[in-house]
Parts: sequence; structure tokens; C-alpha cells
Amino acid sequence: MTGLRFISTRGQAPACGFADVLLAGLAPDGGLYMPEAWPQIDLSEIAGKSYAEAAFAVLKHFAGGDFTDAELKADIDSAYAGFDDARIAPLVEIGPNLFLLELFHGPTLAFKDIALQVLGRLFARALAKRGGRATVVAATSGDTGSAAIAALGGLANIEVFVMHPKGRVSEVQRRQMTTSAHTNVHNIALEGSFDDAQAIVKDLFADTVFAASVHLTAVNSINFARIAAQSVYYFTATAQLEKPATFVVPTGNFGDVFAGEAAMRMGLAIEKLVVATNANDIMARALNEGVYEAGRAQHTLSPSMDIQVASNFERALFEASGRDADWTRRAMADFARDKRIVLPASVRAALAERYEAFRTDDTETLATIRLVHAETGRLIDPHTAVAVAAAGRLPIDAFKPKIVLSTAHPAKFPDAVREATGQIPPLPPRLTDLFNREEKMTALAPDKGLVQAYITARVAAS
Ligand SMILES: *Cc1c(COP(=O)(O)O)cnc(C)c1O
Repeated sequence: MTGLRFISTRGQAPACGFADVLLAGLAPDGGLYMPEAWPQIDLSEIAGKSYAEAAFAVLKHFAGGDFTDAELKADIDSAYAGFDDARIAPLVEIGPNLFLLELFHGPTLAFKDIALQVLGRLFARALAKRGGRATVVAATSGDTGSAAIAALGGLANIEVFVMHPKGRVSEVQRRQMTTSAHTNVHNIALEGSFDDAQAIVKDLFADTVFAASVHLTAVNSINFARIAAQSVYYFTATAQLEKPATFVVPTGNFGDVFAGEAAMRMGLAIEKLVVATNANDIMARALNEGVYEAGRAQHTLSPSMDIQVASNFERALFEASGRDADWTRRAMADFARDKRIVLPASVRAALAERYEAFRTDDTETLATIRLVHAETGRLIDPHTAVAVAAAGRLPIDAFKPKIVLSTAHPAKFPDAVREATGQIPPLPPRLTDLFNREEKMTALAPDKGLVQAYITARVAAS
């Protein structure tokens, strides 16, 4: 089948189709996949449609070469059938021209479900067509692991290994991972930090003999399929308001906010993309000062944004440099070596056309949760609060709507919400027995050899 081709941001990998991009994640030259050209989508193709129909209208442009319309529709429909809110990504007004785009109505209460529920189904379908197997390994500080398990648990030909730092994820997050009843799900409680877990995952991928032997793959946000699926809610939200908005996005790995740039490049009118960071402000510094420099990761109340590098920024740099893959490759090599790059004036100017950035610390995050509760009666989670605080720093314009991406349900982070408001947000009814379900996990010392032996044995037994 012919379809849209994908190229690497570093220019040294062969172009390939959507299913290859989906199954591989990272390009073989270390770059990130991007469409060779952005499809153009008119808002009239989205307006008045259900969320699933809108997702199909967007995703068919990317996936159409490898999946039939019927296959794509079936997977999208079943992905969103299990959400708690039939609107999937409802828009609620919390102030004059200030909206929350609620992205947390999926199975694990965070926005990652919106892309991963579709991705998992397409992944299994692509494997079945090719007759292959895959081993997905992920390190998680909480949300990615539970979303990956919810998306891949029970699927044929896939074994899922999720490593979380033992004792360092919230109890809700841990139980969402460890209470999965599916036999293809394997939880590792690593006796170390998240950085230890991530370093082991990197080592496993670098061990090419091992990686090939178990068909190792990743479903983290560098996978272009996730970006494509996340671009959909920028379209549906804009279609509902019938005018261009400023989107304010709580940002970690830069995947969600880059999905907004993707929507713009597909023709959607967006006023501005506001990058909201917590104290881990590498992206705010890069956009405001022109220096992209890794710091030390700090623990904050919004742990899913506690990152040192923002992998998807490479995609924005590729675009901002006029798709100059040679420059992007050199810049990423410099960054790998020096942990720092100075952005050229032309790249900074191109980024400034779409992005603004603000940083919010934990004190202001708590104050924002309290303020929103006092003014509207709503409880918001700390990630959403970081973005609401950033929205508050924008000039007030009575005619231009601001949409804050609300990326997690408050019940997923009850401690911060209680500290700010004295209230404990209730879990949705389907999760009320979460604390009574049986947990399954294996504690391992942070040692690549041990983890590798564990994976090899489980894959052999599957
Ligand atoms: C992952 C996550 C983010 C950050 O998204 P990126 O795509 O990594 O920028 C923000 N909020 C929540 C709740 C998350 O789980």
C-alpha cells in the first residue's frame, strides 16, 4: 500500500511508512520520525463530528497507507468506548474566556490514555499482519507505565515490562500498574530512582543482540503515532469555540505541546502555544533565553513533568531550522556531548512565532489549586495547576480564548490537592475497589543483568 512517508529529523535513516514508525518508535539514526509533508486538514472536516470521528479524520492521513478505513475506525471506536465521558475531551469554561480541556477521562486518569489506547490496538494489528512479536519495556515515574499497561494488557503477541522506582510513585499510580489481571503485563519495582530505571532501559536498547532477540520496542512519547493522536484534541477544541485559541500546555517531554505545532502545520489556526513548566524549566529557559541546557531533575508536586531533557523538542528544532536535518543532527550531537546548545537567532525567531513559556514552582502550584477551588468549586490536579498559573501570566484579552490542557484527574494526585484545599478528590466509581485489588510485582536491584534475565525468562515462558 502507498501512503504518507516518514523521515528522520537527523536525515540518515531511510523513509518508511506508518506501521514501521509505529513499531520502531525511534529512527535507526537516533532521530525522531516526522511526516515527509504535513497533510492539510480543514476545520470543516472536524466540526460537528464525534471525537472518534474527528480522530479518524486526522489519523487516516497518517495511517492510511498501512491500515484500511475499516480497521482504523474499529480501533479508534473501541479505544474511546471505554472512556468515562462520552465526549472524550470535554471543554469546560472556568473563567471569562478561560477553558479547561479535560483529557483525563480514560482508564488511567491521565491524558496519555488518549493516544495510547489507539496506539496499543494499532500496534497489535500491525504485529498480527506481519506475524511478529514484540517486547515493550518502559521506565515510568507513574503515568506512562499505567497508560501503557492499560493500552497493551491482554493484547496478543506483546509482552509488557514496566519498571517503576520502588516506593517513589503514588499509591494510586502503583496500584493502577500492579493490579492488572493480564498475564502479558510484568511490573518491576526497581530498588532505585527513576533515572536508574531509565538508564537500564537505555542499556537494554543499546544491547543490540538482546534487543533483537526479544524484539524490544518502546511506546514513549517519541513515537510519532502518539503525536498524531494528540493533535486531534487541538482540532476538536478549536472547532467547538469556532475561533483560534491560545493553548496552555503542562509540559515535560514536549510531546503534548508539539502535537499543537503539528495541528498548526496541518492548517489549524492557533493563536499561541504556551509551554508551562514546573521547576524543571529546561523548556522555559530554552524558549525565553535561547539556551537549551539540561539541569538536574528536581522532585516536584507535578512528577510527570520532572524531566531533564525534553526529547520531542528535537522535532520543533527540526521544523524551526527549516527542516535542516544536518543542523539538527549536529545540534543533538552537541547537546549529547555538552548537555547544552545555544539556539541560532533564526531558530529562536521561528520558535517565537508559535511558542511562549512560563515556569511555576510548587508554592504557586498549590496556591493555584486553592484559587481555582475557591472561585469555581473545582478540584484540579497539580499538572493542570502549573498550566492554569501560566495562563494567568498572559495578557487578558476579552476576545481571545485560552484553553488549558487538563492532563490528569485530581484523584490521581490526592496529596497535593488535599494540601491545597483540604479536600480529597474521589476516584471515579470504576476505580473505587483499586485499594482492594491484588497487586503483582517483582522487586529487583537496579542492575541491567538482573532485569535482562527477568525479561528473557518471562518472554521465553510466554
Ligand atoms: C506526561 C504528562 C505530562 C507531560 O506531557 P509531555 O508530552 O511529556 O510534555 C503532563 N501532565 C501529565 C499528567 C502527564 O502524565
